[in-house]
Amino acid sequence: MAGTVLVTGGTGYIGGEVIDRLLAKGYTVHTTVRNTAKSEPKLRARWPEAGDRLKVFQADLMSDEGWADANSGCDAVAHVASPFPLGVPKDKDELVIPAREGTLRALSFAHRAGIGRFVQTSSAAAIAYGQPEKDHFTHLDWTNLTAGVPPYIESKTVAERAARDWVATHAPDMIFCSINPVAVFGPVYDDDMSTSVEIVKKLVDGSIPLIPNMGICVTDVRDVAEAHVRAIEAPAGKVRGERFPTSEKFMWIREMADVIRARAPEYARKVPSKPMPDWLVKILALFMDEMAQIKGELGNIRDVSGRHTEEVLGFTFIPAEQTLEDTVRSLVAKGIVKA
Ligand code: NAP
Repeated sequence: MAGTVLVTGGTGYIGGEVIDRLLAKGYTVHTTVRNTAKSEPKLRARWPEAGDRLKVFQADLMSDEGWADANSGCDAVAHVASPFPLGVPKDKDELVIPAREGTLRALSFAHRAGIGRFVQTSSAAAIAYGQPEKDHFTHLDWTNLTAGVPPYIESKTVAERAARDWVATHAPDMIFCSINPVAVFGPVYDDDMSTSVEIVKKLVDGSIPLIPNMGICVTDVRDVAEAHVRAIEAPAGKVRGERFPTSEKFMWIREMADVIRARAPEYARKVPSKPMPDWLVKILALFMDEMAQIKGELGNIRDVSGRHTEEVLGFTFIPAEQTLEDTVRSLVAKGIVKA
């Protein structure tokens, strides 16, 4: 039975896809954006048929303003908003504080409004880091912050831990669970896309001339959204306290390049085929931010399993090959990458 759901961060890649699914299923959606004057026209243009079933509220993760109105009348919250920048900030608190405080703010306003179900968009970042001895991970694993991890990884881990502690202390009856996606790809709506999609964009547009020896797990934005909706709809006993990683499989970047060449050959002219030696990454890392970010990932397998999510939420993930092909085709169709 459709009800009303608050989706925070309606301007985002994942937030938009969650809204899309909920509207298609007949829900009324409240969403928060940081600036309604700027963002509401874009959201209305994306869902022209939604009318009163889409309500847009101005609310920043760092301020109480707007949150009471956004939560009013909702049955569930999908808390998707969190900073996800391309580069590494000088001060980690630029990410950690909004991620943690924003989550606690969203939780406490939801609780005050009497909302009984809260789905947090966490990340595989809260699962698979700071444990150099491991290369396979499940929903039971937690990132080890004492090992020292990059700011975004820390922000997602701290936010999920803080949310779980807050619920245990202040709202033990609340049905809380997290969705923990790996790197998210798939069709894009416009050029305001997520940091994750930049990886495929750079492979296709020629900005990566050689392939670094690293890999990532792939998940599809449509599966991430489906997991959120199922977590909202499933019986309480199935989801309470759960963690739901979405991950189809681990792939080396060279394998991703091969898939693009095989499945979208007409757009693969600039996709690199030669490896970038590790020593070159390390030298470039001295003066290029992007290389500094991947230096620590060279040769690492960080394979996060999504099987638990498929089993509990009852659906099968889109194959990574399909996801990558659809990403490339949509980047071209939207004019983000020139054919
Ligand atoms: P995105 O497109 O950059 O979306 C991030 C959203 O958070 C935007 O709506 C942004 O609003 C909002 N936001 C950021 N700082 C905010 C603040 N201070 N106050 C209010 N809203 C704020 O990225 P995404 O990929 O959809 O990410 C959404 C969520 O998924 C994040 O929690 C991210 O950590 C998580 N996630 C993403 C991936 C991935 O690979 N994409 C993987 C795992 C987890 P503005 O438009 O105003 O900036």
